Amino acid sequence: MITVLSGGTGTPKLLQGIKEIVDPSELTIVVNTLENDYFAGVYVSADIDTVLYTMSDLINDELWYGIKDDTFITHERLEEIGCGELLRIGDKDRATKIQKTLLMEKYDLAKACEIQAKNMGLACNIIPMSNENSDIKIVTDIGELEFHDFLIKHQSEPEVLDVKFSKVKPCEGIIDAINKSDAVIIGPSNPITSILPILSLDGVRDALKNAYVVAVSPIIGNDSVSGPASKFMKAMGIDVSAVGVASLYDDFLDAIVIDEKDDDKKVKVNQIINKVIVTNTIMNNLDAKKNLAEIIIENIP
Ligand code: GDP
Repeated sequence: MITVLSGGTGTPKLLQGIKEIVDPSELTIVVNTLENDYFAGVYVSADIDTVLYTMSDLINDELWYGIKDDTFITHERLEEIGCGELLRIGDKDRATKIQKTLLMEKYDLAKACEIQAKNMGLACNIIPMSNENSDIKIVTDIGELEFHDFLIKHQSEPEVLDVKFSKVKPCEGIIDAINKSDAVIIGPSNPITSILPILSLDGVRDALKNAYVVAVSPIIGNDSVSGPASKFMKAMGIDVSAVGVASLYDDFLDAIVIDEKDDDKKVKVNQIINKVIVTNTIMNNLDAKKNLAEIIIENIP
């Protein structure tokens, strides 16, 4: 069994490769819920939906958000009637979100996700990191912003001074999945707003110390491949490089995959993590995703 810790862009790309070579029934994916909230009357768990759509081949993998070839009739009508929404939610994607909102009148988020995954024909186990909503604030030079306001309204442009999020309880099954896994893969997701929230859950870091854990660096050179990870790392005083990523996970990580462009950093990363794998980590097509997944799986002892 393999457990993957995931956000909503970098790791889902890797999951497209992993699902080609690992039996999905052997896969548990623990997904970040830090940014979950209600928008325009529906519950939005962006990273969970991205993982659901990725595993069921529905994902819009240009945006890593929503369903491919979706229409936006409701979104446009909402704007016309003066009820514009911050997120651009497609019609089919909205159906998923309405279903989740309705399910959550009866069940918790984990159960709602389990039902949706079954409805989508998925054999893998997708667990939200928590059933509780987090309170996240991006502290910037223009004040404290909600995560989506920072990301969408302000296009991640303000200078980031700090990232603060509340502590939440882990969902049932996470620690058990880690304990039972031959390996835990930390995908190349945003270390601050996707992975650290999962690592901050009670018991997770301790469980990881007893597991074989391999991470893929989302930082190549001195920048993230996409998104605001480098801004967040800088604000937290972490070196924006594979070395900085390694230092965040140094208490439990067995191996780290860094990009071939960072070959010059191998020695420094090796001072922190025992095993360093250097390869292409840019996943711009299915072959690259599969190759990276294969290298990770081959190196599991
Ligand atoms: P979010 O939930 O949308 O913020 O997405 P994630 O946290 O899952 O992923 C964001 C991170 O993915 C960014 O820090 C990127 O640097 C990283 N990323 C995206 N694509 C790639 C890729 O092809 N290779 C690597 N190594 N990192 C990637």
